[in-house]
Amino acid sequence: MILPSDNSATSPSPPADAASLDLDLIRKYAIPGPRYTSYPPATQFTTDLLKLKLEEAIAADNQPGGGPISLYFHLPFCETRCWYCGCTTIITRRREAATEYIDDLIREVQLTATLMDRKRPVTQIHFGGGTPTFFPPDELRRLGTLINETFNVAPTCEFSVEIDPRRLVEDHVVALREIGATRASLGVQDTDSKVQLAVHRWQPQNLNQRSTAWLRQHGFKSINVDLIYGLPLQTPDSFSRTIDDVLTLNPDRLSVFSYAHVPWIKPAQRIFEDRGQLPTPEEKLAMCDVAHRRLKVAGYVDIGLDHFARPDDELAIAQRAGTLHRNFQGYSTNADASLYGFGISSISSTRDSYRQSFKDIVAWRAALVAGQLPTERGLRLSEEDIRRRTLIMRLMCDRGLNYANLSRELGVDFAQTYAREIASLADLEADGIVRCQPCGIEITSRGAPLLRVVAMRFDQYLSTAPNRHSKTI
Ligand code: SF4
Repeated sequence: MILPSDNSATSPSPPADAASLDLDLIRKYAIPGPRYTSYPPATQFTTDLLKLKLEEAIAADNQPGGGPISLYFHLPFCETRCWYCGCTTIITRRREAATEYIDDLIREVQLTATLMDRKRPVTQIHFGGGTPTFFPPDELRRLGTLINETFNVAPTCEFSVEIDPRRLVEDHVVALREIGATRASLGVQDTDSKVQLAVHRWQPQNLNQRSTAWLRQHGFKSINVDLIYGLPLQTPDSFSRTIDDVLTLNPDRLSVFSYAHVPWIKPAQRIFEDRGQLPTPEEKLAMCDVAHRRLKVAGYVDIGLDHFARPDDELAIAQRAGTLHRNFQGYSTNADASLYGFGISSISSTRDSYRQSFKDIVAWRAALVAGQLPTERGLRLSEEDIRRRTLIMRLMCDRGLNYANLSRELGVDFAQTYAREIASLADLEADGIVRCQPCGIEITSRGAPLLRVVAMRFDQYLSTAPNRHSKTI
């Protein structure tokens, strides 16, 4: 077993010239809340499928003007469990599991495709997990061939893959390029050996370096790195050194997530409490601050929530142009694509519906063998849900609301219809998080880390649903 390098050696202190986060403000408002990759959040989905009539929603989605399509494939297997993990995963070393799963995905794609207008252009494809590179390169080629033969994949399609550098061989990169992938997202999380030991994820920095080298050499045009702060044994200093390490990889984008501690959903996380290794809320906030300062000084633009990008990256350009969007994969430049998800736990969405597949592989497989869509839960959106989804997404992407634009788009007098919600922002305005004007709302740079808190004021479901979300920071 190779131990990753201990990054505790020497590292410059965070530069003093980047603006700090207002930690008192964050402390005051960082309550649990949804991430708003969808609205209403997935906690509102129901299993009352007969009532939902989801196949009607798919049929309606095919009507002329149905627009572009985004495809998501959930590839759930991992060889070992990282104890912080919140994803839907299956831990196994049985390689045949990959072949069997692709056989099932072929069934699911064929079944779903009969319900879809396949002439619609596919503008976005994402392989998520789990660990997509658990799958042997030839299985990924088989899946890619199926996608390219079944759907009308646009020449400009944005095809991204989550990469685990510990489970990557060069032929994976070759296979992924052959089937059209051009964007990679590397799971790094932390480069410190003590933290890696504590979370059960060994990943020497040389694996990160080797992966980025292969990806660039074979023509991947964008590399994202995922980090997590708030993990066991992390300190603001050690996290700053992790940022030093990942900056040497020269990523185009970074996602710096707050560790979501939800042991009532993910019991493996209890070990961190038992061992008393979790950082204090103060230390966690300091890590968030370090990340923001270090990445700003390094020239990255804060896209929103936990995302950073180079100023010439498409996300940063879209942010400046006011054309940024948000979907289940986070921020995107793809407007209004219908999403079709495949694999266990995957979510699909049309204008007025969400549909989630079984999380349990046995139930998912049984439905496919029976020739049925493997839907476990879903939601039909009311017109009010659709309006609030639009306004929350604009808030998350534009850091503000323009009443005239939204009145036009939603067909209502925005300021009048949402007067109660706008009035509820008074405390946030008094604390300098938002600026309310007669023509709209602007989230200040002090308030930017609290975007979700502002969005929560427009969420119709929060007052009625038990709050089972992770903390906003
Ligand atoms: S590799 Fe990724 S998906 Fe798998 S257990 Fe670790 S964090 Fe979770």
